[in-house]
Amino acid sequence: MIPIIAPFIGESEAEAASAVVLSGWLSQGPEVAAFEKEFAEAVGADYACAVSNCTVALHLALLAVGVGPGDEVVLASHTFIACANAVRQCGAVPVFVDIDPTTFNMDPELVEAAITERTKALMCIHQMGMPCNMEALLPLARAHGLAVVEDAACAVGSEIFIGGEWQPIGSPLGDVACFSLHPRKLLTVGDGGMLTTANAEFDQRFRLWRQHGMSVPDTVRHKSQTVIVEEYPVPGFNYRLTDVQGAIGRAQLKRLDDIVSRRRELAGAYREMLNAIPGVSAPDEPEWAKTNWQSYCVRLPEGAPQIEIMQKMLDRGVATRRGIMCVHLEPAYADTKPRFPLPESERAQKGSLLLPLFHQMTEDMQNQVVSALKDALA
Ligand SMILES: *Cc1c(COP(=O)(O)O)cnc(C)c1O
Repeated sequence: MIPIIAPFIGESEAEAASAVVLSGWLSQGPEVAAFEKEFAEAVGADYACAVSNCTVALHLALLAVGVGPGDEVVLASHTFIACANAVRQCGAVPVFVDIDPTTFNMDPELVEAAITERTKALMCIHQMGMPCNMEALLPLARAHGLAVVEDAACAVGSEIFIGGEWQPIGSPLGDVACFSLHPRKLLTVGDGGMLTTANAEFDQRFRLWRQHGMSVPDTVRHKSQTVIVEEYPVPGFNYRLTDVQGAIGRAQLKRLDDIVSRRRELAGAYREMLNAIPGVSAPDEPEWAKTNWQSYCVRLPEGAPQIEIMQKMLDRGVATRRGIMCVHLEPAYADTKPRFPLPESERAQKGSLLLPLFHQMTEDMQNQVVSALKDALA
């Protein structure tokens, strides 16, 4: 069986986790703090704050930039449902725009028309690791006084050419970037998230919110020789990451460069193999983007039966996934009628397929995937 992705994880993570367990301090503490520092360095951010997953990271990012009841947030529908759910959780309304079919990301040309006097923020989703066109989106946001929240759930290790240089995703482009550490992404701690920002005040707020709005962290009280009584200046949440996960994250981070370069190599090999199948198109990377290929999404020939193809491939031991979902097509969003037609989003969901791609994948496995696809299409 060839899975869609497999975590690249082993002894060093197991040892790191074991050391934390044996230390007796398991909840958010020194390992999380060290992980944050190292993560910030890896993505070129001033601040990084760890939380339990990317969905709650998006929630806090939206709260920090001031999204509240009645506000609107412009984003793609062609994304994981968590993006829209986070907007809803703030009491705000998701306004969906269509995607650019090459990058599978929000089409900047369509954003202006979606902005109203209630719009508070753009959510720029770096879908499947492919950077959003920030060069076009940032000036738009600035011109309309909108905040920019980046969903970088899939994009650790991706880069974008902007302002005359290559920058890692997560370095301050928008106001806040949110990462996921779920096993479906490049780095994992089981479940986890990270918020990066250049805004010290936002970072302080994230730290308060994730820990019940508590003024003095328990790590500080634990070490203190004098009695400290904490205060709760704001209502908060419990969005913490544990130190066991923090330690695993630090070990994972050391593998990032290796993982990204291996995935880019595998993607290059796929491209050559897939070009030989008539009607199938391999994904393209714009000149200004270096994706980490978190997902490898191919377009099927027009009208090809997606689910049947997936089943045939599964019967041959090859896992696939349909193209990225469209939130507006789910029953949970039946009451959020899209204001604009979303033909490219729907076409991408129905007409594409995600192929297996993981660090340990061999040339032989890639051949197996491609021949299963070829046979399924025949
Ligand atoms: C995975 C994913 C999320 C959610 O991440 P979790 O860590 O599972 O909460 C959000 N947005 C996108 C684009 C994702 O792919």
